[in-house]
Amino acid sequence: MKKAIKVFKFGGASIKDAKAIINVGEILQNYKNQALTIVVSASGKTTNALEKVVGGHMKQDGSASNFLNEIKENHYRIINELFGDEHEIYSVINDTFVEIDWVLEEEPHDDYDYMYDQIVSVGELVSSKIVHAYLNEIGLSSHWLDARDVIRTNNIYREGWLIWEDTLKNATEKVPPLLEKGGFVVTQGFIGSTSENFTTTLGREGSDYSAAIFSFCLDAESMTIWKDVPGVLTADPRIFDDVTKLDRLSYREAIEMTYYGAKVIHPKTIKPLQNKSIPLYVKSFIEPSGGGTFISDEVVDNYPPIVSVEPNQALLYISTKDFSFVAEHHLSYLFKLIAEHRIQVNMMQNTAISFAVCVNDVDDRIKNFTESIQDNFKVIVDRNLELIAVRHYQKELLDNLKIGKIVLLEERIRQTVQLVVKNVPVMKRKQADIIS
Ligand code: ASP
Ligand code: MG
Repeated sequence: MKKAIKVFKFGGASIKDAKAIINVGEILQNYKNQALTIVVSASGKTTNALEKVVGGHMKQDGSASNFLNEIKENHYRIINELFGDEHEIYSVINDTFVEIDWVLEEEPHDDYDYMYDQIVSVGELVSSKIVHAYLNEIGLSSHWLDARDVIRTNNIYREGWLIWEDTLKNATEKVPPLLEKGGFVVTQGFIGSTSENFTTTLGREGSDYSAAIFSFCLDAESMTIWKDVPGVLTADPRIFDDVTKLDRLSYREAIEMTYYGAKVIHPKTIKPLQNKSIPLYVKSFIEPSGGGTFISDEVVDNYPPIVSVEPNQALLYISTKDFSFVAEHHLSYLFKLIAEHRIQVNMMQNTAISFAVCVNDVDDRIKNFTESIQDNFKVIVDRNLELIAVRHYQKELLDNLKIGKIVLLEERIRQTVQLVVKNVPVMKRKQADIIS
């Protein structure tokens, strides 16, 4: 009889250094004879560091190779601590980094997003090769699988859209035979490839989504995300101190809270799991025996208030120049352009001749969008805002959240309140400073 497949996802923090990878090995000892597919992110903050390499290469100021060297050193340090001075993994990792060297030897590519994916994807390639080699080293036999042979996307670089049919076919052809040989399968999150075999990425923090894609395609029995927190919490513990763990969540609750910025799971993760009723565990790699959070299709009553805070928001106030109403035809025109500029809308409101949208402020997207409509619309942009979403709100909590903030937009739908806020500057500048 075939063993039921489980999918595990280990994020950057869980493999950030040699000690962390040793800990992952210890966790996996408990699953020795199971059919595990293990999806890993880039180690620690490698993706951010690789983004700097991309930025440096664009600027052509010589910084790219310095940034890259730092990344290489981090990885060689990890390898050295795990494997000692001599091991074949050194040349494996060397050869993988060479792919970036090649990109850097060329002029920056015209298509920034394409170039970004070719460089940034290397973070997951190297981390998964190290984890794979380490597991074999400690007697947990495993097979390395290139996720680009499975995850097929269109060619929207940095935000590849999944081509499910091809991905499903690839996954069912490639993964079960490896598992049947015995041992785990180790693969990468976040990355995929186009039908022409160009590397794509699925969007920042996309490894959770990758794990859910594998779970869906393999009809996994369950998926587990291993995190540095005990499970899904009622708010981000880095911002709030009185948070509690949610033991059980319904898919619906999970998708709503992650959509509004609860950073614990990537928002696209839930749908593939829900579609096949695959339960999701969120567990701590620091305390693996803890209960974690269990997310499934069971109905859960009586949620406590759940708060999420999304930074880097902008409010766009869009109004017609000729005083015509912002009616349906304008809205559909504006939304078409918003989508074309790949701007994510988090909240909106309209009046007779104006329309306000709260969006994620990414790169130059707002500027480009604004320019594209300037002939017919006036746009005012308010930046550096936060979007606070509270599910199952209580009045007192809301009042507390508003302290020290200016609320620019507020919306309530059933149990959810969303606030677009500006932090009140802590110190007002003295008038004398401004005059002088
Ligand atoms: N390494 C990628 C990132 O940092 C993907 C992930 O960690 O999920 O965005
Ligand atoms: Mg991550």
